[in-house]
Amino acid sequence: MTACDGRGVDVLTPTQRSLCMSRIRGRDTKPEMLIRRGLFARGFRYRLHDGTLPGRPDLVFPARRAVIFVHGCFWHAHDCALFTLPATRREFWENKLRANRERDASAITALEQGGWRVLVIWECALKGRMKRSFDEVFDECACWLADSGAETAEIQGSGQADGSHGVEPTSITDGRKRQ
Ligand SMILES: [Zn+2]
Repeated sequence: MTACDGRGVDVLTPTQRSLCMSRIRGRDTKPEMLIRRGLFARGFRYRLHDGTLPGRPDLVFPARRAVIFVHGCFWHAHDCALFTLPATRREFWENKLRANRERDASAITALEQGGWRVLVIWECALKGRMKRSFDEVFDECACWLADSGAETAEIQGSGQADGSHGVEPTSITDGRKRQ
């Protein structure tokens, strides 16, 4: 059987196709893929990019009433070493990124009001000079998922500086019980 057997030319396996589509849509960023693969290997099952939920969470764990966002530090204006406000068109970027932050914050609020708990994993936890070991980040993530009492939390790079970048950071509750 070939791709040209008259039944269509779709020669991609479902995995290849979703990989391909995700590239087109610019989602599956690398840190997210690492976390996803690790969680899947450990038996966690999830839905991806559920557009029916506020903020379209990257991973949704319906039975655990839990969602995970893996946030790029630039686009979500994280107050960390990975974030630099572009030198040109500062006002444009400030407004754009502030709007992103506000959207993130209201999505989290709406999710919580809907009975979901939320984990934000920041890119800097896994990338750049503040990055932590993948195992440590992954364990924290898996523990949070497994603990049905764990509240909304975030995982970020170590030793975050108090850098000021001109974008008002919104805060989310760090419900981690240990740190
Ligand atoms: Zn960051």
